[in-house]
Amino acid sequence: MTLAPILLWLRRDLRLADHEALCAALASAVPVIPLFIRDGQVDSLGAASKQRLGLGLAELDRALRARGSKLVLRSGDAEATLRGLVAETGAQAVHWTRMYDPDAVARDTRVKASLGRQGIEANSYPGSVLFEPWTVATAQGDPYRVFTPFWRAVRGRDPGSPLTIPSAIPGPERWPASETLASWRLDAAMGRGAGVLEKHLHPGEAAAQNLLSRFIAEKIGAYGSARDFPAASATSGLSEPLAHGEISPRQVWTAGVRALEAGVSGAEAFLRELGWREFAYHLMYHMPRMLTANWREDWDHFPWRTDADAPEVQAWTQGRTGEPFVDAAMRELWVTGRMHNRTRMVVASYLTKHLLVDWRIGRDVFARMLADWDPAANALGWQWVAGSGPDAAPYFRVFNPATQAAKFDPDGAYRDAWIAEGRADPPETALDYFEAVPLSWGLSPEARYPDPVVELTAGRARALAAYDAFRTGRQHPAGGGPRSGDNHLHGSEPPR
Ligand code: FAD
Repeated sequence: MTLAPILLWLRRDLRLADHEALCAALASAVPVIPLFIRDGQVDSLGAASKQRLGLGLAELDRALRARGSKLVLRSGDAEATLRGLVAETGAQAVHWTRMYDPDAVARDTRVKASLGRQGIEANSYPGSVLFEPWTVATAQGDPYRVFTPFWRAVRGRDPGSPLTIPSAIPGPERWPASETLASWRLDAAMGRGAGVLEKHLHPGEAAAQNLLSRFIAEKIGAYGSARDFPAASATSGLSEPLAHGEISPRQVWTAGVRALEAGVSGAEAFLRELGWREFAYHLMYHMPRMLTANWREDWDHFPWRTDADAPEVQAWTQGRTGEPFVDAAMRELWVTGRMHNRTRMVVASYLTKHLLVDWRIGRDVFARMLADWDPAANALGWQWVAGSGPDAAPYFRVFNPATQAAKFDPDGAYRDAWIAEGRADPPETALDYFEAVPLSWGLSPEARYPDPVVELTAGRARALAAYDAFRTGRQHPAGGGPRSGDNHLHGSEPPR
């Protein structure tokens, strides 16, 4: 008798090690059909994220084939596709790893109900965060809204040991048909930048493990002191595989804890950053409106400029504001699909303060261009810098890009790496920017470097004046975030 298979629906968990949903399927001793569905949520990803996804899927397929399996690709509405595949394969169950953003939660809830009506088991598993968001709460049972107490609550918890990678994954006798990755053209939206970007990406689970081992062996000791220097290459680079689930937060956490227990300095600072990722996910799960709306609702009255096509916004996006530290960072983004955390804060501050632009415009540019785009970390990062977010930096803390450069790029190495204009022999990184941006901009490394779009003192004064007017005019006192129950979408129910 042929055993009814289990469909393993992969999304942002493109790995085989520490994969609860996969291990549960294997424990059933039935054939497993790994599946990726290109649905509307995939189609709506930003250009860099989508290209990065395509490369990650190719790597995952290779890893599956090495274990006697393969990845089935289908496109269409997730619910209809799964129902169709269940009928086609006689599958008894669908397994997946939970996601926590509101669109995914809504889709997965719908899919679970629909499969249930078909008499098919739909089982969701943890794996994208260290601790399920509904298990971390204040003494009053509310989610934490401030990082430090959140960190105190999770810091000593044990997320359990990572699960080992299976050596074989039994497949069905007859595989369902698969679309091809090439036909999806996931790199199309990147245009001519795709070739440049690909040189800088590290797709796949094996590459993620290499990044982690290298970081633990060579960098974690100095992480605490060096992590703020963008030219130092002192951070892990793990945001890219974490965003696509090619490594689990638990695997990274376990390596960090091991280093801490071995007395390595820098380990505590590293674990704390993983804590920020966790905090972002928990906030997003409990207060999903933070992805789109000012966390502090009184900030809805702040006089942001909202024209995404304004010349200053275009200059910021293009890395041509005439402010070298800001432009270097935006060019790093154009070329690598990444940006150092220090300069993410600097460019976000410049946009929301010196240029007085709504943080959501910056959020969207990052969503289009980051290969490590993550809805929770991106929204939290932007709201934190803008001053509208939970536990945010105060708005009046305006980063001066010139002072920041003097402090964190004292010898100019970062700016030199990314800005070609005015230099006799610019490095490949700086020249690659001109290969990555649209030809229609007509840019050339021989052209003159642009003049500043805003004078720094004047920009700062305008921002602070706007903030003063907002503070005196606002009707509601500044709160610590949304009122309890205001925007809880899910309460304490787990997502499906
Ligand atoms: P490391 O310093 O090695 O840190 C290890 C891990 O901790 C990271 O991989 C990441 O998962 C987590 N982490 C580190 N810093 C933060 C942080 N501030 N918030 C949340 N998690 C953190 N991170 C993303 O992964 N995706 C995004 O889309 C994103 N957008 C951001 C937007 C803005 C405006 C800001 C200020 C920050 C944003 N971050 C984002 C957070 C941070 O900049 C990146 O996680 C970090 O630069 C990634 O580099 P790394 O992996 O070498 O980090």
